[in-house]
Amino acid sequence: MRLRDLFFVTGTIEDAPTPVTKRMLRLRINCPTQSWTPGQQIRISVDGLLTRRTYSIWDGDETGLELRVLDHGDGPGARWARTARPGQEVVFTKPEGSFVPRPDAPYHLFVGEETASVPFGPMLRSLNGSPHHAVIEVDTPDDRLPLENVHWHYREGAPAASSDTLLNAVRDLSLPDEPGVAYVAGEAKTIQSVRAHLVNDRGWPRRTILTKPFWTPGKKGME
Ligand SMILES: Cc1cc2nc3c(=O)[nH]c(=O)nc-3n(C[C@H](O)[C@H](O)[C@H](O)COP(=O)(O)OP(=O)(O)OC[C@H]3O[C@@H](n4cnc5c(N)ncnc54)[C@H](O)[C@@H]3O)c2cc1C
Repeated sequence: MRLRDLFFVTGTIEDAPTPVTKRMLRLRINCPTQSWTPGQQIRISVDGLLTRRTYSIWDGDETGLELRVLDHGDGPGARWARTARPGQEVVFTKPEGSFVPRPDAPYHLFVGEETASVPFGPMLRSLNGSPHHAVIEVDTPDDRLPLENVHWHYREGAPAASSDTLLNAVRDLSLPDEPGVAYVAGEAKTIQSVRAHLVNDRGWPRRTILTKPFWTPGKKGME
């Protein structure tokens, strides 16, 4: 066994990236069976072994993993996704992360933007009818991934960073008086505002709010 195989999984791109929304690309990696929990992610070497970017698992089976990568513009991750070719080798870390549904939650609240909607897909599918609310902001209706029972909100060209659209949508949400468990992901500054609202205005204990910053302007590869 090579040293690399102790820490990394090696797979291959199955087919050319295909758009599944206006800016979201579907990539499927054929690889040895991976055990994963909805909400978890992998870290991919996108430009040599040292430049890595993190992507949530959208779906997976015994033969591979599916990702959804937002083509946001320029960056090693976005370039890797756009230019991936069938048969290309992909080196990544095993699925990991604790941003996963809490089974004992009285109800679940999902809040995020385009990139957050990727882990929300399998997390929502795993709930099997448990009560939940999902508020997702995207630029336009063409940016929606196929998720059911979601309150969609649209920025219509406004920036996703420090987004008032998402914060106001959460403020307007009718929720039970008692706290549930919140999963807040996506742009870092928007996450901070949403968490502050849940804590200060709704009285949710901090421990009931799971946050996962994915990106923010000016920072590269947040994890
Ligand atoms: C736990 C975790 C899970 C993630 N899951 C996903 C996922 O499933 N799908 C996905 O697409 N991304 C996901 N991301 C984000 C991903 O890891 C990269 O940060 C993202 O693809 C940008 O990488 P890049 O190399 O293209 O740009 P970078 O070089 O890392 O960023 C350059 C600049 O691009 C801008 N930028 C980056 N991302 C965005 C964006 N979404 N919208 C607007 N501007 C942006 C920012 O100004 C940033 O400073 C996840 C991140 C984390 C930490």
